[in-house]
Amino acid sequence: MHSITTYWWKYYLASFFSILVIGIVVSSLNINLPYFFLIQIGLVFGLWYLISPIIMILVFKMRRASQDITLMVEELSKKFNVKLSKIYIINDNFLNAFAFGNIIFRGIAVTLPLYESLTQEELAAVLSHEIAHIKNYDPEVMLLTIFSINSIYAALIYYLPLVSLFFLIIYLVILLPLVFYVHRKIEMRADLTAVKFNPEITYWLESSLIKIGYLSRSIPTNMLRYVLPIQILLAKEFIVNNTVDRKGVLSFRTHPSLRERLLYLSQYEKQKMYYI
Ligand SMILES: [Zn+2]
Repeated sequence: MHSITTYWWKYYLASFFSILVIGIVVSSLNINLPYFFLIQIGLVFGLWYLISPIIMILVFKMRRASQDITLMVEELSKKFNVKLSKIYIINDNFLNAFAFGNIIFRGIAVTLPLYESLTQEELAAVLSHEIAHIKNYDPEVMLLTIFSINSIYAALIYYLPLVSLFFLIIYLVILLPLVFYVHRKIEMRADLTAVKFNPEITYWLESSLIKIGYLSRSIPTNMLRYVLPIQILLAKEFIVNNTVDRKGVLSFRTHPSLRERLLYLSQYEKQKMYYI
């Protein structure tokens, strides 16, 4: 069993080495065109973009999901008018789901414990968030962000090598936090796209976020499915009233805080959280 961080490190390493190999091949091309190096950079990232879903599938050891999840995704994708995605299951011990892929191939992956700890309604809400990422072209937005920021950095170093230490500080303090800032914005947008499209799922998205981000710390994953609505409600009250967000643009978080997400989602709630 691995933690999610181990997987991301493996993914970054695999991406780094594939970019290196593609880079060596592409740099051996010698065509006499002005600014050909720019075309070469584009070619390296473009080729990596094409093979990146294969790297994801291999690194996370994804298997095709069972019929019931596949049918659910097919139905949801149709509703969202998104080109059908392949759906995978990851057999490891963390609660997570993500959308990945490129224009040609779209994939959504769910970990087995996440599948086991959510109700059907909650699973549909989480999958709607993932489909919203695809609908909003978020994998492309992230790739373009990372690509532009690294190009800016490379250009600065190339033209003003004498102050490269200064640019490294700029990179760490401004450019890199900008990547995480964009990531948090697209996460929020995916939540909102999903609930604006179907406000009925708002409650279920909130309860799945509470289970993933809060209750899973104290309740074993195989019991999470049986958590009562009153427990979800109390947990929500606690998170909203008793946790503090460390605000600031200079943050390396990929998602808005749980509190922030619950607060903006609450505005779209049709179905109240009160069952008492
Ligand atoms: Zn997301």
